[in-house]
Amino acid sequence: MDAKKRFGQHFLHDPAIGRAIVHLAGVAKGDAVLEIGPGHGALTQPLVEAGVRLTAFELDRDLLSGLQERFPSVEVRGQDAVDVDWPSILPGSGWHVVANLPYNVATPIVAQLLAHPGTFRRLTVMVQREVADRIVAPPGSRIANRLGLYVDLRATSQVVMTLAPGAFRPPPKVHSAVVRLDLRPEPLGGEGVATRVETVARWGYGARRKTLRNALRGVWDAEHVDAWLSQADVDGGQRAEALDRDAWLRLGRTMPADAPAR
Ligand code: SAM
Repeated sequence: MDAKKRFGQHFLHDPAIGRAIVHLAGVAKGDAVLEIGPGHGALTQPLVEAGVRLTAFELDRDLLSGLQERFPSVEVRGQDAVDVDWPSILPGSGWHVVANLPYNVATPIVAQLLAHPGTFRRLTVMVQREVADRIVAPPGSRIANRLGLYVDLRATSQVVMTLAPGAFRPPPKVHSAVVRLDLRPEPLGGEGVATRVETVARWGYGARRKTLRNALRGVWDAEHVDAWLSQADVDGGQRAEALDRDAWLRLGRTMPADAPAR
């Protein structure tokens, strides 16, 4: 099997692993499923066997005809899965995503999928182990981070499988993990508050070694920042990593309308 580095191609070679991932995804016959990067079909095969209605996005055009021949019931699309307006392409709601993601674009793909709770219900995706750890780290935890906060507002998440490099051909340099994310029907606090939390988090995490107060003072004047922190009842002497979910939500709820839009 030829593998193209630029497409992040690392193929699973043990059919039992593909079957185990599809089992962990909890898909049922007739479910609508999106697979990103079917490659040589390691997950496509067990998904078809599970009787789901499958749409697959594969960027490598050399793989398309082989996939379509082998899996005639699957809608195979030769398309990039980054920057897709998902609701306009996938009709209805309750979609599952099952994928061994190309690691170079896994984070933007996961973030974009989570932005559409009206379309997607659950993502069961293989990513680099270190990215999986960041995804499932809730705010306030030891490895709290901006991606983990974004995920926490939009889904519940857990690591359901870990894999060593030898599970793939060619083996990647890193370990891998499958994460399952169950989307919340709407983000915590509602879409407006969640979007504002993400803006504050961008500011807070953008200046990592600074306290939250000093990070925010980097984008807005001190007087406004101090009034906002006090209104939100958040100690600005902490760093972004130390804030728990409620503190982030209070910052989102109390963010003044005239805060800078950047
Ligand atoms: N699912 C197969 C497996 O588990 O063996 C292949 C997984 S491999 C890690 C990632 C797959 O995603 C490759 O088939 C690659 O060509 C495809 N791919 C890479 N970038 C993509 C993109 N932006 N959109 C859709 N597919 C992409």
